[in-house]
Amino acid sequence: MLEQASAETIQEKQVLDKGFIRLVDMMGDDGSIVQAARVSYGKGTKSVREDRGLIRYLMRHRHTTPFEMVQTKWHVKCPMFVARQWMRHRACSYNEYSLRYSEARDEFYFPEETRIQFQSRGNRQGSSDEAVPKDFQALFSGSLDEICKVAYACYAHLNDLGLARELIRVFLPVNLYTEFYWSINLHNLLHFLHLRMDAHAQEEIRAYGFAIADLLKERVPATWEAFEDYILTGKNFSSQEWELLDTVIDFERLKGLMESEKGNVLSKGEWREFLEKFGEKSQARDTSVSVPESS
Ligand SMILES: Cc1cc2nc3c(=O)[nH]c(=O)nc-3n(C[C@H](O)[C@H](O)[C@H](O)COP(=O)(O)OP(=O)(O)OC[C@H]3O[C@@H](n4cnc5c(N)ncnc54)[C@H](O)[C@@H]3O)c2cc1C
Repeated sequence: MLEQASAETIQEKQVLDKGFIRLVDMMGDDGSIVQAARVSYGKGTKSVREDRGLIRYLMRHRHTTPFEMVQTKWHVKCPMFVARQWMRHRACSYNEYSLRYSEARDEFYFPEETRIQFQSRGNRQGSSDEAVPKDFQALFSGSLDEICKVAYACYAHLNDLGLARELIRVFLPVNLYTEFYWSINLHNLLHFLHLRMDAHAQEEIRAYGFAIADLLKERVPATWEAFEDYILTGKNFSSQEWELLDTVIDFERLKGLMESEKGNVLSKGEWREFLEKFGEKSQARDTSVSVPESS
């Protein structure tokens, strides 16, 4: 028999009412990213602090290929409609449970009461926080329960009669649970998380995003910290937004912060790049801003 990942090495999180995400296998860590980034310089091992600085530099400058050196493999159990969103991500590999080959299981997603929400008026893809009357929630849950029972009963009966599984699956609603294996490198995984942990993504797939993040951050702590700082909670501005901001930002005051205790949140390299973002303003007002190269 082929060797498989042992139960001790698999890390798992329960998601939604019957789903899970399992980290089945992972090749590499923060060290592999640093090792790959340094290969061109041949500088050998550096201190942990310098490694962290390098990872932050790579993340900040979207120097992405070193992050591709880390490979992850996951086992996912999620509702069909979540899998449909998931599989829009193409820069990875999937292998899904086949409903042509295997029988569907009587496993459907039933949202918690608090998840039963109104359509959002402001966001056409989202749900509203407005309170939903109890009888609406009961109607939702009761109808879903009934539909799933009828659908599965039809499916099971036709399956017993020997009709083709590839066809009788048309009876099954999209809250049916499916399972798949998912292999993805760290760069593409962070891209997935950036999109799917975002408040604009649907709550159900976000729940998987947060569960993946919980398992991942322990394995690549320096990368996760940089990802949080620069991508996940960092902000981008359009040129028009930036133009407006630039008119109200007190550049001298900002520069003054560099020497203060508050300014310690940024390294010298980050300060230099931060001030450079002010472009002409920074050059015109002060050409003496010189901060060492190292990040
Ligand atoms: C909140 C949200 C709402 C969405 N709504 C919709 C919707 O209403 N309808 C809908 O159809 N989709 C929707 N999507 C899916 C979305 O458009 C993307 O298909 C999905 O997020 C995958 O992103 P990706 O292409 O960047 O990732 P991947 O497919 O993993 O690709 C990674 C990167 O590789 C490159 N790449 C991959 N394939 C190609 C290619 N063929 N050509 C050029 N570059 C490529 C791109 O740079 C891409 O960013 C939504 C996604 C989100 C997060």
